[in-house]
Amino acid sequence: MKRYSVAASLLSPLAVKRDRQSERSEGISSVLGTLLRGALAQAYLQEHGETDERFRRLFQDETTCRFGPLDPAHSTLPLTACTCKRYPGFLADGQHGVADILWNRVARRLSPARDRIGWQTCARCGEDVKPLSGFYTPASGNSAACAARSSTRVVAAHVGIDRTTSTAAESIFFTLEALEPGPDPHGSAPDLVGWIDADDWAHGQLLKLISAEDSMITLGHARTRGYGRVRIELREALPGTEDHDAREHWSSELLAFLGRPEFGIGHLDPSRCLAFALTLPTGAVLVDDLLRATQDPADAVEWLPRIPSVDDPGSSARDGREVEGGILRWVGGVTRHERLRGWNAAHGLPRQDEWAVARGSVFAYLFEGGSDGRAALHDRLDQVERQGIGLRRNEGFGDVVVSDAFHREYLRQEGHP
Ligand SMILES: [Zn+2]
Repeated sequence: MKRYSVAASLLSPLAVKRDRQSERSEGISSVLGTLLRGALAQAYLQEHGETDERFRRLFQDETTCRFGPLDPAHSTLPLTACTCKRYPGFLADGQHGVADILWNRVARRLSPARDRIGWQTCARCGEDVKPLSGFYTPASGNSAACAARSSTRVVAAHVGIDRTTSTAAESIFFTLEALEPGPDPHGSAPDLVGWIDADDWAHGQLLKLISAEDSMITLGHARTRGYGRVRIELREALPGTEDHDAREHWSSELLAFLGRPEFGIGHLDPSRCLAFALTLPTGAVLVDDLLRATQDPADAVEWLPRIPSVDDPGSSARDGREVEGGILRWVGGVTRHERLRGWNAAHGLPRQDEWAVARGSVFAYLFEGGSDGRAALHDRLDQVERQGIGLRRNEGFGDVVVSDAFHREYLRQEGHP
């Protein structure tokens, strides 16, 4: 499969209900891949009248075609992104800038002096930092110059803080009644962007389908009132992301950071150690052997070590597990779960709620072993990145970025040397 970018322009307001039990119909800033898939499937049925083998391959086979979410910008901020409490936001918006705390978390976890390492404060004013969530567009080739997507039609982020952990509390970050179309529907910037993974056959079929619909689909709720008319465009294939050199570079910089004397971790030999992170920009639906919701990628990727249980600090998971002749350990991360509510469109009935790992969740791991094992580990990571993890992958869940450059580029708060 190749990944094709998708551009969507709203021709009428788009309403997507957050919570079917609520009297209020809160909209959201992005649209699940589930809805994009549903809209295209509906268009297919209107054209062809029935589900056939082609329908099954296009909309139900995740090795043929996957539909990512439609978002206001290309990239999802990881849950480790944070910003000044008083002047929140990217520097480009005249604020105090953004930092990423993943590497600091890893240092705290590995350090014998962890209680003496302070939490990060704003490098410009010394105020506390708070999580920043939402979406951003990396500038070409340099995401250090990226800007958060902000506009009046996509409202500001509100982040709930969990007082005991100082991390983002489970909450809704964007609330709005409906997404409003941009002032110029024929302008160059689409309102929402996303992706579809497709093999050559599925790509051809989708182009035909979209063109038969004159590029118009209907998305979301209140469609009978004229809401949710969207012009959709399947654009060029995006370049692949498997880059072993970039991963190695990411790792060696993290190891150098962890070697700072104040952490007291000591030297981690870059020729023996490979650090990497798995970031989930679209979230994931993970279940364990008994089909219970879980937040541990080890339940979806059999060779990953388990995250040590909080209740059992002495658990053997702390020591990692053997992989490719070396030892692989979980060394930190941030995640939370999110309830996925759904309607069964076919029956017009509520679908059972599911728990998902939130968008932007990050998990960091450290491998210690020989060079053969390291090469084999890269292959395993390629596979995870290509295949994704967990359930409902053809609705965009379970997309994985290995060693997202964001964590490295924002180690220092923006604008701070
Ligand atoms: Zn500040």
